[in-house]
Order: sequence, then C-alpha cells, then structure tokens
Amino acid sequence: MPPPPPVPPSPSEPLALTPPLAPLAPPPGGPVPSDPLRIGDAAVDTTGGWLPDGVTLSPFDVSNPILSQLDPGLLRAVQDAARAAQSQGVDIRVNSGWRSKGFQQRLFDNAVRNYGSVAAAAELVAGPDVSKHVTGQAVDIAPVEADMWLIANGRQFGLCQIYANEIWHFELATDQYGNCPPLLPNAAG
Ligand SMILES: [Zn+2]
Repeated sequence: MPPPPPVPPSPSEPLALTPPLAPLAPPPGGPVPSDPLRIGDAAVDTTGGWLPDGVTLSPFDVSNPILSQLDPGLLRAVQDAARAAQSQGVDIRVNSGWRSKGFQQRLFDNAVRNYGSVAAAAELVAGPDVSKHVTGQAVDIAPVEADMWLIANGRQFGLCQIYANEIWHFELATDQYGNCPPLLPNAAG
C-alpha cells in the first residue's frame, strides 16, 4: 500500500493582533492617601495625562492622549514649531499636555500638601477648574533649550509663555498682531 499522502502543515498560528495590555502605571507617589485632600468620587481618573518622571513625548506621538486630547490648533502649532526648531538643531519634547480633571486635582492636592496652603499651591499649580491642561489648551515643553527656543520663536506659531515662573508652559495666545500677552507672575494670576 502506498503511504498516506502527507498531511499538509497546519497554517501557522496567526499573529496576535494586539500585544497584551500593559498594567496601568501606578500614580506617582503611590496610592492617594485617605486624608482630607483625597480626591472625591466625581474625579476618578487620576492618571489621565500622567507621564513617569523624566519621560517626554515627541510632539508627533499622537497615540498618547496627552497629545491626542489637545486642542487641534495647539497640537498643530507645537508640531509646526517642532519642525522649525529641529531645522535649527533644537529638539522640542512634550512632558505634559492634556490632563484629566482628576489628575490635575491630584497635582493640586499634592502641591497643597507640599507648600502648606491652597494659596501657596495655587501659585505653582492651577486647580482643576481653571487649568488649561484639563481643557487641552496648554503644553509643557522640555528640555530648557526648547523652552528658550519657543520663548524666542513661538510667537510665529501662536505659542506664548504665559507665567513668568513657568518657562516650560505654553498656550496659543497671540493677539491679532501676533504678539504674546504680558507675562502673568504665576498660575495664581
Ligand atoms: Zn503647564
């Protein structure tokens, strides 16, 4: 008897379509302590827009909500500025953009803890109801050379430093003549 025909090889395993989900990064500083500054039930997303310390994004990494949730005009301006800066040897990186309201609340609460009062904290971190990060209308740029480049050249793209004590924080803020508004001393105005 002839041997049975060879069994055709089974098709190779299809590639997994998606990598396994990475575990959600823990919030910096560990779990939110249960103290009077605890975030309320209304603000459950305390990590939206969080990046680990020292991690920055390319302005073109729109897979991250830090960039994809930005105001589209602001995102375009930062990308245009990044191209122009790159042509002059300056690398523009984003270390914060859109933040969830809960994350901004956590930043603010941490600042209250660290600086001792709501008034002191408000000079350094905007509250969740006024932060332009929560509405996708602000970006924080690194490194310092990129901040300096944007302070000198950002106007061409509509980008302005807003607070004297935050050289990294930029918003679309030029007027009809392409000028930036006078600097505010800090986030408390
Ligand atoms: Zn900022």
